[in-house]
Amino acid sequence: MANSDAAAGRTVRIHSFESMGTYDGPGLRLVVFVQGCNFRCAYCANPDTLDCAGGRDVAIDEIVRMAVSERPFFGRRGGVTFSGGEPTLQAEALLPLFERLKEEGIHICLDTNGSVMNDAVRRLLALTDIVLLDVKEIDDTRHRDLTGRTNAATLAFADWLEENGREFWLRYVLVPGVTSMREDLCALCERFKGFRMLSRVEILPYHTLGRHKYDHLGMTYRLDGVMENTPEEVEAAAAVFRSCFDCVRVN
Ligand code: SF4
Repeated sequence: MANSDAAAGRTVRIHSFESMGTYDGPGLRLVVFVQGCNFRCAYCANPDTLDCAGGRDVAIDEIVRMAVSERPFFGRRGGVTFSGGEPTLQAEALLPLFERLKEEGIHICLDTNGSVMNDAVRRLLALTDIVLLDVKEIDDTRHRDLTGRTNAATLAFADWLEENGREFWLRYVLVPGVTSMREDLCALCERFKGFRMLSRVEILPYHTLGRHKYDHLGMTYRLDGVMENTPEEVEAAAAVFRSCFDCVRVN
């Protein structure tokens, strides 16, 4: 049996799919929301992806078929983005899928919190065209409050990408009064200034679109009362980032 045939029978734990996504990587993309996450971000818009036992098993073959059928819409820049949830938790299972997509010449983005690094993840990264690295907070105390985890692994992940010549975007959710402090934005700029592999900084304004899911799941939403950003606040953050990077976008 050929390698790709063997891979076809394998499965990945998936939450859902989004076709023609425009927010997660360049161009039009098929976004694959992988089930399970090791963070508990207070602002998480997809709390239904957190439970590793949730979702459903989807055959790799089915995902490849879906990607190939949507390939005409990808154009020169689009492709498939793996998001979640945290895709690297299933790195071993995703490897044959990434290999199949590369055989088909499909562009791959990996949206990750950067907390997991092991041999399978390194092999996954070798097959990834652009990593969308979500840095939640540069101040570790605030990062722990926000996510339940230290940011040390994420920062080490970024260093690995830089040292190993893997292109990445830095993504930052701007939460008023939580991650919007100027001192933290400046410290983040200082930490990433000079990274050659960082090709875009994306500011993701805070939104509450996933808020209703918390009640449904019986979970507590910890940011009740936090307002969405004003345009001035987003612009002020963008100005801080632009003072260090020439590739700043507001998503
Ligand atoms: S890392 Fe992403 S999926 Fe996981 S809790 Fe945070 S926002 Fe949600």
